[in-house]
Amino acid sequence: MTTLVYDDIYTKHDTGLQHPENSLRITNTVTYLKSTGVWEKLGVEKPRAATIEEIASVHSSYHIEHIEKLARTGGGNIDPDTSVSPFSYDAASYAAGAPLTAIDLVMKGEVDNAFCLIRPPGHHATPTRAMGFCLFNNVSIAAKYLQREYNLEKVVIIDWDVHHGNGTQDTFYEDPSVLYFSIHRYPFYPGTGRESETGKGRGVGGTINIPLPHGTTSKTYISRFQTVLEKDIKQFRPNFILISSGFDAYGLDPVGGLGLGTSAFRILTEMTQKIARECCEGRIVSCLEGGYHLSDLPRCIEEHLNGLNSTQN
Ligand SMILES: [Zn+2]
Repeated sequence: MTTLVYDDIYTKHDTGLQHPENSLRITNTVTYLKSTGVWEKLGVEKPRAATIEEIASVHSSYHIEHIEKLARTGGGNIDPDTSVSPFSYDAASYAAGAPLTAIDLVMKGEVDNAFCLIRPPGHHATPTRAMGFCLFNNVSIAAKYLQREYNLEKVVIIDWDVHHGNGTQDTFYEDPSVLYFSIHRYPFYPGTGRESETGKGRGVGGTINIPLPHGTTSKTYISRFQTVLEKDIKQFRPNFILISSGFDAYGLDPVGGLGLGTSAFRILTEMTQKIARECCEGRIVSCLEGGYHLSDLPRCIEEHLNGLNSTQN
């Protein structure tokens, strides 16, 4: 059984409705999932906030204090893309807390896996700075939590957002215990994610980047994804799989420029689930990253949820 982790606090991170990463992404999804019955079928858990110590497992105290202070003093811009409003620190703390709540539920065996319907997103946030709509790196904080609280040695982060997750890569670039796999459009924002970026020092081989050109179709994308999954991820034998689940590789996304159909997200999810069942008793926690097509994002998310909740493979 799959569960959703969600709180209304995520709608209070106010970027303005002209911004692609705005609260309608979430409210439209909630309305849609309620109308199709998926919301009720899966059940919804409320997240807790991540503690400062948990956030500090990835981020510098200067970075955390900067976001908090900016929010408490009325908000402001960090860069042309990334802003903080009065409730942003709280929303970001709960966005980082959602996968921790989800991990506890999975580890207690109360659910098989979970999807965190959260914002702000996280994968561009580096240990020392917010960027690209992201304040705290939600999946990275979750990976540290799995290792610290549950002694799970090996964690895989699969990132199928159309953008390269430079913040997640930075966090674990020299760490062989967390395998980061990103498939993304390249060249594109944020400029990183070449195939030659594979890790550093002891972490060499612990980063896998699959850059794809503008317009890449579902067929090519899925086959490249499957190759890495079947070979590298299987070989690594993770104890837990985290997904940075962006939906901006969807063909009609106003930002993305790749060519996935909505059903591709179900296929990617089922492939991931197959590996998770083989390696780690199906343990998956997925976190929303990007995805900016306001009317189709909910359908992409529904495909992902149906994949997570599938008993097919
Ligand atoms: Zn993205």
